Amino acid sequence: MLTLENAPIGTKALAIGGGHWVRTERGWKWCTGATFPRPGGDWNGELIKPVNFQPKGSQCTACKHRNGPCSHLPFHTMPVCNTLPDGTKVVICSEFERRNT
Ligand code: SF4
Repeated sequence: MLTLENAPIGTKALAIGGGHWVRTERGWKWCTGATFPRPGGDWNGELIKPVNFQPKGSQCTACKHRNGPCSHLPFHTMPVCNTLPDGTKVVICSEFERRNT
């Protein structure tokens, strides 16, 4: 179960009146402001897991960049082609370049 204590970085805690805090390495950062040890008193009790994005594996196998590193790429901006059971979004990588065989 997702809790304030085990929430991974990027988890959102929603406020009753709108807005949210985001889990960071330093605590909970209000969407427009400072970072606090925990969400404020108007937290609605709901936590939303961050969405993970990953490139399509078959693309990487055929790509000249397959030895990476590719983790810096903005996968969250790329077209989604599948959603895995755990919520991970599989994307079509825009940096794909076919490798010579
Ligand atoms: S550039 Fe994209 S497709 Fe190519 S190896 Fe990296 S993540 Fe995979």
